[in-house]
Amino acid sequence: MQFRKLKLSGFKSFVEPAELHIEPGLTGVVGPNGCGKSNLLEAIRWVMGENSPKSLRSGGMDDVIFAGTQQRPPRDFAEVVLDASDANNQELQVTRRIERGAGSAYRVNGRDVRAKDVALTFADAATGAHSPALVSQGRIAAVIAAKPAERRQMLEEAAGIAGLHVRRRDAESKLRQTESNLARLEDLMAGLD
Ligand code: ATP
Repeated sequence: MQFRKLKLSGFKSFVEPAELHIEPGLTGVVGPNGCGKSNLLEAIRWVMGENSPKSLRSGGMDDVIFAGTQQRPPRDFAEVVLDASDANNQELQVTRRIERGAGSAYRVNGRDVRAKDVALTFADAATGAHSPALVSQGRIAAVIAAKPAERRQMLEEAAGIAGLHVRRRDAESKLRQTESNLARLEDLMAGLD
């Protein structure tokens, strides 16, 4: 998957709408301390479905919304749009929007979708909010110190099979539900004999 463009509005320090074109090849982000370099990477993780405020250096998810400064009032919402193209060169646009006190909503190519659908889309493309391809400050030591099971998870994510685990869990849960419905049906039928 190739990321093409990132649009931010009201996300952390990016109060004004900002657009970042991501050209093929290596992209470097440079700037003085505190100018928002890490916020950019967090915006990418957030639009891909990151749900842990802590890993976005926030206390609660609403903290990703521009909190205001002495000169500017806070915002009520934040929105990040990621334009990408998948392995078949199909255009993919993912939008995540959060409103203060109302939680997040996602859209893929303009259609409302669930958070899970977004996570699966990125997992199938061997990337995602927890992908080992995104290494934030302080994460390198964590990768080196990871336990074998955690390393295996990273490898599975890199191989693009993490989404299969989610689907397997869903299928197993449906199977258990069906088995229990079947058992109940057999009980009822036994009662009719
Ligand atoms: P460094 O080089 O020091 O790591 P950086 O360029 O990565 O810095 P960030 O950590 O991305 O900078 O940005 C930090 C800035 O973002 C701080 O000024 C902080 O006040 C601001 N910021 C973070 N969250 C919000 C928010 N919700 N509203 C407004 N500003 C925010």
